[in-house]
Amino acid sequence: MTSISTIAAFVSADRLWASILAMAEIGATANGGSNRLAFSREDDAGRSLFASWCEEAGLSVSTDAFGNMFARRQGRTDVEPLVIGSHLDTQPKGGRFDGVLGVLGGLEVVRALNDAGLETDRPIVIVNWTNEEGAVLTPMMGSAVFTGALALDEALEEKLPDGRTTRSALDAMKWGRGNHPVGSPMHCYLELHIEQGPILEEEGVAIGVVTGGIGFRRYRIAFTGQEAHAGPTPMALRKDPLVSASRAIVFADALGRSIPEARSTMGTMAVTGGSPNTVAARAEFTLDLRHPDAPAIAQMEENFFAECERIALETRTTVQYEMIADSPPAPFPEPVVSLIEDVTTGLGFSNRRMASGAGHDACNISRLYRTGMIFVPSLGGISHNEAEFTSKEECVAGVRVLANVAHTLLNL
Ligand SMILES: [Zn+2]
Repeated sequence: MTSISTIAAFVSADRLWASILAMAEIGATANGGSNRLAFSREDDAGRSLFASWCEEAGLSVSTDAFGNMFARRQGRTDVEPLVIGSHLDTQPKGGRFDGVLGVLGGLEVVRALNDAGLETDRPIVIVNWTNEEGAVLTPMMGSAVFTGALALDEALEEKLPDGRTTRSALDAMKWGRGNHPVGSPMHCYLELHIEQGPILEEEGVAIGVVTGGIGFRRYRIAFTGQEAHAGPTPMALRKDPLVSASRAIVFADALGRSIPEARSTMGTMAVTGGSPNTVAARAEFTLDLRHPDAPAIAQMEENFFAECERIALETRTTVQYEMIADSPPAPFPEPVVSLIEDVTTGLGFSNRRMASGAGHDACNISRLYRTGMIFVPSLGGISHNEAEFTSKEECVAGVRVLANVAHTLLNL
């Protein structure tokens, strides 16, 4: 019998790389990226290519009612499967690795098991989630439908920019109306993904052992003041909402910097009523607060709002807040995190624990089932861009870790 520690040796770097490059040809863009928007013709073609590879590897492919694809390799017993996956859809000028590595890495694990002639106790299922990117509609839709966070009927009625519902788009692609049960139980879910940030490359670390999805809260903050002429109005008598907002933004930036692992982002701002020689009437901006721990987010929120009240008092403006999104942190269970860590160390790859700053299907799934994630480096931290790059060696390191973690879980 092949021991657990050698299954990674059956992972083929050349086969994995060839599959990634072949998938990238579907919707290939001028500067080396891919454009496979969810529900598009390219999405359809990418799915067909993936399904054909799965069938060649002896897997049976099914879909659920929202077009999520499940490719299954039987186990010795009919217990809950180990599920590995990610997404094949991309941003309009997306890269070749975001999502694709997780799906095709899962397929490579199956190919390695086949080459090793290994049966497993549990079934293994490779999944391709529908519309992870949210370049149309909302992100992580397929996995949200799967967990029930988004109602299936609601999701099927959502309208694409071309006016079609997702239901008619999935029907046209023949990937909708499948009978794989939505939310069907998993033993564990694993997702390999590019980091999409600069930390692993910066530190020269091969593998990120993901401790969970970072939580975020997003707000719209509006300061209201009084329009006034730039000349006749003395500074002391102004009610300048743009100054108030600017002070609040500087505070929020410092807040994000002062707490380890925190992020504060003020990405949009709209000013109304002002001109080069008029004090503005209103300044509105968005604030996105992130942290792996929920209490830390609540603390940042409290500090920020207290500071806004102080600023409003001093600047004689008024402030209003509206929460526009709330996604709690999704910590992964420690036994899965430490299994990934041990396997990575056992294979001789450098590694570090890290939270995922971006949302992933794994964050949705973790709310129902045991979940683990593995990160590999992103060149320059660049993602959602044609220039996105992870080397063949870096990709295959991630798949080798995935293979050994999977093989351990498949026989538990
Ligand atoms: Zn992704």
